[in-house]
Amino acid sequence: MAEHRDDRPIVWFDIDNTLYSASSKISQAMGERIHAYFVSMGFSHEEASELHLKYYTQYGLALRGLTRHHDVDPLDFDKKCDGSLPLEEMIKPNPKLRKLFEDIDRSRVRVWALTNAYKTHAERVLRILKLDDLVEGLIYCDYAEPNFSCKPEPEYYIKALEKAGVTDPARCYFVDDNRGNVVAAIRLGWGHCVQFSEHGLEVVEGGRVKQIDNENLSDEKKSGSDVPVIADLQQLRDVWPEIFKPEV
Ligand SMILES: [Mg+2]
Repeated sequence: MAEHRDDRPIVWFDIDNTLYSASSKISQAMGERIHAYFVSMGFSHEEASELHLKYYTQYGLALRGLTRHHDVDPLDFDKKCDGSLPLEEMIKPNPKLRKLFEDIDRSRVRVWALTNAYKTHAERVLRILKLDDLVEGLIYCDYAEPNFSCKPEPEYYIKALEKAGVTDPARCYFVDDNRGNVVAAIRLGWGHCVQFSEHGLEVVEGGRVKQIDNENLSDEKKSGSDVPVIADLQQLRDVWPEIFKPEV
């Protein structure tokens, strides 16, 4: 990637369960494959469920736990889990979402994706959604790198800014369906963060569903950050009017 200086702030979009609806059941299908992977390693179904949840909760990504504590080849894992999903049958382009991306004013901001998936899955989803030509940059979880980091680990966000040549996190825009990922960005000083939640619910890896509840956030996580929640990405037009082209 050319390392030229670009002063436009970046609008960062998460991909999975943000750019398509959780009703696509992709996270459930991913969860089933991850479960099968644990079972193929010799764990019982019960142990597999426990470890999957434990690693997801602890690291934000089951694979992060697998590479830390077990001798797992992340690229083999990716091929068998994300890589085997019949995505073309599960998600379709959304013309309203494409219009939203087209209406973002590129003279003022850049549009990047920030995902915990590997590059192949991320690019495939963007292509199927017909958004690949509207996303200028992609930060993905580099499973090929030993000890890769992922959201919500601070180093992941810090590296993302470095790669994108961003010096002032306060100018970043960020939307993600995972509350922990949004809170992490806020704590690092990212200026404009929004959680996307379709029905006041949050689907976590493996397809489990959590109720979004501002009241029950731990004090540590709250620390001055009430996370704004939107139920439809079109609401970004009202939340961040400054990033859109003026209406004619
Ligand atoms: Mg997501």
